[in-house]
Amino acid sequence: MLSENLLKVIVCPKCKGELKYCPKKNELRCYRCRLVYRIEEDIPILLVEEAKPLTEDEPCE
Ligand SMILES: [Zn+2]
Repeated sequence: MLSENLLKVIVCPKCKGELKYCPKKNELRCYRCRLVYRIEEDIPILLVEEAKPLTEDEPCE
């Protein structure tokens, strides 16, 4: 689980926009770029080259 404080300070490395945490899949999503950043051992991998395209529109609440 990512800490609330960390979530407040991290932004999308591509657009500097807000990232949405998806607890269900344990990933971070940028809806502006439609990219998904994975989290490994509580560390978000905030690299555009490592991000996957967001394919599904499944809400993550
Ligand atoms: Zn972005």
